[in-house]
Amino acid sequence: MEKHARIYIAGHRGLVGSAIIRRLRQDGYTNLLTATSQELDLRDQAAVRAFFEKERPDYVFLAAAKVGGILANSNFPADFIYQNLMIEANVIESARLAGIEKLLFLGSTCIYPKMAPQPLKEEYLLTAPLEPTNEWYAVAKIAGIKLCQAYQRQYGCKFISVMPTNLYGPEDNFDLESSHVMPALIRKFHQARQQGEPTVTVWGTGKPLREFLHVDDCADACLFLMEHYEGEEIVNIGVGSDLTIAELAELVKQAVGFEGEIVFDTSKPDGTPRKLVDVSRINALGWRAIIPIEEGIASTYRWFLENKA
Ligand code: GDP
Repeated sequence: MEKHARIYIAGHRGLVGSAIIRRLRQDGYTNLLTATSQELDLRDQAAVRAFFEKERPDYVFLAAAKVGGILANSNFPADFIYQNLMIEANVIESARLAGIEKLLFLGSTCIYPKMAPQPLKEEYLLTAPLEPTNEWYAVAKIAGIKLCQAYQRQYGCKFISVMPTNLYGPEDNFDLESSHVMPALIRKFHQARQQGEPTVTVWGTGKPLREFLHVDDCADACLFLMEHYEGEEIVNIGVGSDLTIAELAELVKQAVGFEGEIVFDTSKPDGTPRKLVDVSRINALGWRAIIPIEEGIASTYRWFLENKA
């Protein structure tokens, strides 16, 4: 990507989109294109086509999506499948019509089968049934992958798909009802320290294993793949190692400076026992994650203090 290339970041206010923007600015890219959902409704085919015809981007990072946790997925299945299908189909077809140089589509590791062996290899896609709680979202994301592959085959478009593992960092959702574990624990330990509470309650047994990738590492991987990868096959983005929720809670406790006890509420679900991606493919291409989790938690906590506390 030349420094003056016109780069459209769809979903620039989200966790991943905002990290990609920060990184592009830092690297001296000057011609960044964004549109809020008020300015451009990505579900509206005519509007998306008109936007691409007028703006003529060279590169597209497709990080826009309807996202949410387990509860949101089960309450609004139609929103999750419909909105994501429309966003992907409209952006991908408009990108082809506008003759853009290259597009990177952000997927998710929930596209892998529920019972797939760990670590999750890219070739496990579509080998067995999905986790039913988020299959609406997963089916839409799989359709996005297939769109990119089909457009590569039929039109020779350079449209690639990447699957990041669990992400955390600035601009995450810190709402205790709907957030993932990392931002939830940051908020819980922070509040407990402030209010002088003796304990913090962590859901489940603390035994499940999760992998956590800082979103700045994810943005770094996205730029790297935009520059160096043109294959049809999907590429996982992850750290390649995991830790237990109990270990994570201990790290967040230290970062926040909470001095009380951690208690586990085993009436809350553990979810899947382990979720770890295989990163051999991206490592072989020459990329690996570099932000240590301790550092990532500390900087995310600083961001939380400045923006959400
Ligand atoms: P998952 O990776 O899709 O299971 O989603 P989460 O990030 O929401 O949960 C990961 C694990 O963290 C599960 O075992 C949760 O039970 C556990 N957990 C512990 N405390 C919390 C919390 O306060 N919020 C959330 N969301 N998960 C928590």
